[in-house]
Amino acid sequence: MIVLEELQKRYGERLALAGVSLHVQPGELFAYLGPNGAGKSTTIRILAGLTRLSGGRAVIGGVDIEADPRAARRQCGLVVQHANVDNELSLADNMDIHGRLFGMPADERARQTRELLAYVDLGERRGQRVATLSGGMKRRLMIARALMHRPKVLFLDEPTAGLDADIRRRLWGLIKSIQADGATIFLSTHYIEEAEFLADRVAFLDAGRLRALDTPAALKTRVGEWAVDRPSQDGLRSDYFSDHGAAKYAANHAASVSSGAFTLRRVSLEDAFLRMTGKEPPPC
Ligand code: ADP
Repeated sequence: MIVLEELQKRYGERLALAGVSLHVQPGELFAYLGPNGAGKSTTIRILAGLTRLSGGRAVIGGVDIEADPRAARRQCGLVVQHANVDNELSLADNMDIHGRLFGMPADERARQTRELLAYVDLGERRGQRVATLSGGMKRRLMIARALMHRPKVLFLDEPTAGLDADIRRRLWGLIKSIQADGATIFLSTHYIEEAEFLADRVAFLDAGRLRALDTPAALKTRVGEWAVDRPSQDGLRSDYFSDHGAAKYAANHAASVSSGAFTLRRVSLEDAFLRMTGKEPPPC
């Protein structure tokens, strides 16, 4: 559904994307995980037609975005990071305007508005001004609006950034159900647990380069099964083991040399991310 080949983006001297290649399958929930400044928004902005690529190639739903930008844009539903809904208008009017922009006929706009607002649990508020909504509700409205023109791919750029944990979990439920209903979802996030919970596959992006791409389980296995954390001069040091016995042995050793301060636990996606982006010292 999405093909990127050596995608590059330059902002003047700065290389924001240094050649990213990946494929996203139809129906997949693909997480693009990386710290601030990694190039996540830049990738999504290119794919959604908001900025041009500087090199490489991108294809969405079989449409090359440089060859036919309009057709490519129709394949995409986009939810950006900041709330870009019109506060002075009603929820229904925000939906309707989006439908008009995509040339949808009136009866289809009305049907999609009704069905999608109900889908994101905002049906009762359809006539209210958007200004009356909470941050989480605005995010749900933005997701409904992005689905208005029946895009093939839904792009979610940091969809839960800045939201409280309970609202984040509710949005996770909504995102899962959109995927279950057949959508392909490309989600950028800097929350590792969000990628781990939601994604079929995760790409680690750092400084404009892909460091790894696989299922969360496979990424974790590359590091090991077990982790032993202990205090070190740099803060916390984690060592990784495939074998539980070896991990226990290391934990006991850590206990004897660091006055008992250690933790033995399962490897998490965060361990894999830190290791593969080079932000953790190598094992001893
Ligand atoms: P992320 O979404 O992962 O936080 P971005 O894609 O926003 O990362 O940014 C990637 C890099 O490109 C950063 O170094 C950022 O400063 C730079 N950048 C992003 N947008 C612009 C712009 N419009 N002009 C110049 N540099 C930009």
